[in-house]
Amino acid sequence: MKVEAIKVYQVDLPLKEGRYSWSDGKYVEVFDCTIVEIETDQNMSGVGEVCPLGPFYLPAYGPGARTGIAELAPHLLGCNPSETGVVNLIMDQALLGHPYAKSAIDMACWDLAGKKAGSPVCDLFGGRHGDDVVLYRAISQQSADEMARNIAGYRDEGYTRFQLKVGGDPDDDIARIFATREILDNGEVLVADANTGWLMHEAARVADAVAKLDVYIEQPCKTYEECLTIRRRTARPFVLDENVDGVHMLLRAFADGAMDVINLKISKVGGLTKARQIRDLCATLGIAMTIEDSWGGDVVTAAIAHLAHSTPERFRFTSTDFNSYVTVSNASGAPRRENGRMRAGTAPGLGVELNRDALGEPVAVYS
Ligand code: MG
Repeated sequence: MKVEAIKVYQVDLPLKEGRYSWSDGKYVEVFDCTIVEIETDQNMSGVGEVCPLGPFYLPAYGPGARTGIAELAPHLLGCNPSETGVVNLIMDQALLGHPYAKSAIDMACWDLAGKKAGSPVCDLFGGRHGDDVVLYRAISQQSADEMARNIAGYRDEGYTRFQLKVGGDPDDDIARIFATREILDNGEVLVADANTGWLMHEAARVADAVAKLDVYIEQPCKTYEECLTIRRRTARPFVLDENVDGVHMLLRAFADGAMDVINLKISKVGGLTKARQIRDLCATLGIAMTIEDSWGGDVVTAAIAHLAHSTPERFRFTSTDFNSYVTVSNASGAPRRENGRMRAGTAPGLGVELNRDALGEPVAVYS
């Protein structure tokens, strides 16, 4: 199998709620998503997607993904896309860093590897654990009352795990955490994700104020060192996200006892190949994971489902179904949430078909 052409599409994904807000007043209303379609000489094509959470969440932005793909694509023409290890080596030699630009290409190669083998990606990643994957709902930053109301609504849709977007004024955040924990039952999970928004004194105040509550603290401060300081001052279970961007940081943070859970985002680490490596390492080290991506539509949701469903259940802290947050469907066949859960498809590869009406014409073709 040989790569004959790489087609790139740009798709806007507007948010159903109108706006998604998190720390420091950041928000996105329309997500800029990039779809990659790899065509081969064997009448088979593979698809991938990358969708940064705006230009100011990670060092990633929509047009940057397409510029990175333009740099990478000429190096990949003629290579065998189902040899995902070789593809990753070629990409890493051709372009230093820029993991998110590599993610959609790597995802499309796994789609092809699955189609070639006649297996869902989930099976290639070790096989299916359990019936389905439990999802969380991210609760956009608003007033404490509005966030509690949103949690109640999403709970009625079957969700049992919630991630509050905090990282604002610490007194407001303390109110947000109390108001939302109060309406949840035992066994329902609440995560307060500050998305790097607090200084250490603010994080320390919030962590102290919620010290008796059943709540996880996620990525309180900007740097790893600041987060580690807060970690050592609080007994709350602790999640690192933005700072854990690859194997080296994972191993350093593990050695420091810096977290109980990591947030593993496919594009943050450069694609499914590297996400799987980190996933397997976490399962060996005893670290649970939120398995997801920075954002996305149907293709990303399918990829998350395959990675999560092939992860032993104990290590799946939670995952999310991004295709339920947005108004545009970029592919059919992706998992759809049922009662707060989703399952990886059983068709070969990622199991999705691009929705040509939503995609329009490619913005670039490399052949
Ligand atoms: Mg996070």
